[in-house]
Amino acid sequence: MWKRWKQLELYWKIIIGMVIGIIWGLLAISFGWHEFNQDWIAPWGTIFLNMLRLIAIPLILVSLIKGMGSLTDISKLSRIGLKTIGFFMISTVVAITVGLIIVNVTKPGAAFPESTRAEMQEQYRADIEQRQAIAREVEETGPLQVLVEIVPSNIVDAASDNQNILQVIFFALLFGLAMALIGKEKVKTLHSAIDGLNEIVLKIVMLIMKFAPYGVIALMGTLVVEFAGDDVSETLNLFASLGFYILVTFVGFFIMIFVIYPLVLMALTPIRYKGFYKAISPAMMIAFSTSSSAAALPLKIEQCEKELGVSKTITGFVLPIGTTINMDGTSLYQAVAAVFIAQAFGFDLTIAQQMTIVVTATLASIGTPGVPGGGVVMLVIILTAVGLPAEGLAMVLALDRPLDMMRTVVNVTGNCAAASIIGNSENELSYPPVKTA
Ligand code: ASP
Repeated sequence: MWKRWKQLELYWKIIIGMVIGIIWGLLAISFGWHEFNQDWIAPWGTIFLNMLRLIAIPLILVSLIKGMGSLTDISKLSRIGLKTIGFFMISTVVAITVGLIIVNVTKPGAAFPESTRAEMQEQYRADIEQRQAIAREVEETGPLQVLVEIVPSNIVDAASDNQNILQVIFFALLFGLAMALIGKEKVKTLHSAIDGLNEIVLKIVMLIMKFAPYGVIALMGTLVVEFAGDDVSETLNLFASLGFYILVTFVGFFIMIFVIYPLVLMALTPIRYKGFYKAISPAMMIAFSTSSSAAALPLKIEQCEKELGVSKTITGFVLPIGTTINMDGTSLYQAVAAVFIAQAFGFDLTIAQQMTIVVTATLASIGTPGVPGGGVVMLVIILTAVGLPAEGLAMVLALDRPLDMMRTVVNVTGNCAAASIIGNSENELSYPPVKTA
């Protein structure tokens, strides 16, 4: 049996892990094993997450430096940069438009009971204030602050905090660019050292992934236990009142995953539907169980290179940057949530206000960190921009986690699609990839 387990594809192992985790969580709720779960199961999930975070910075540094450093044509870098930003902008606007269309057609907020709304506002008052405070800080900064924050004043400092991924990317880009400008001959030794480091980092990712199915059991189990809280019937009630809104948002996510990305991939690359999802499904599942695009980054890089044949230059550039600034799922969600809140409060949004949502949601998704719940903080900014009460947040906060899990999957899928498309346009995609042992 162990032999068969070992031969299974990674995505099957993760799916099995998820199912066992959910069953474990349900058992823990029904038998009251909360404490046992907290003491003996949950820590394994945290250990798995920490390992993913641990490898993120070394992986970004090595991938980017290797990718950039081996460029022979520097103009290619600016071209890839422009294409990347252009693609990110377009896909974000498409995602927001999909969100706006479905929420305006289905109107999930229109029938929302007023009494439930008031109850929720009361219950989540403290949470809302906390997020408003964070959002205010973001809003108070000047327009160029975003750029200022990308440039680190100290690389050790920047690399010591996983939230500074953009700063690390900036340094790695600069370093790789300098290497490319100097030319391979003069820094030969460094090139081979980076190649060696790259092999080591990828091996570490592979080793961490061996632990993934077990980490996922702990993460999913704990999620189920925490989600049910102390009062399972209350959670079920919440589902009943927010069910339609959740369903509508999920429809939006599915349109992105099953219609938009595959169509664009089929039109612009040789990659086909099944091949794409088979290749990136482990990354999608890690995104689902951790609700963090940043945690899924190592796997995104590995799967896009190995299973889709995207070159290191592209994955090293597009994926780390995409993880921090390109969040199609988050922006779609923010658009649906904002209009849902407006509907529940009885506001009729004008076309101009909906356009404001498109612009602010695009910017907000750039500023959203790739961590659980990151998208909700930025939602405050959108609500303020269209003149909606931030108290409306209570309604979407109540059941954010399942939506967070799914929007993270969309974010990850969108970035892998972007890497494949940009890779193909630069002749940096060899699909199907030639597999080496
Ligand atoms: N959890 C999402 C991510 O990591 C961000 C969000 O909250 O929308 O991609």
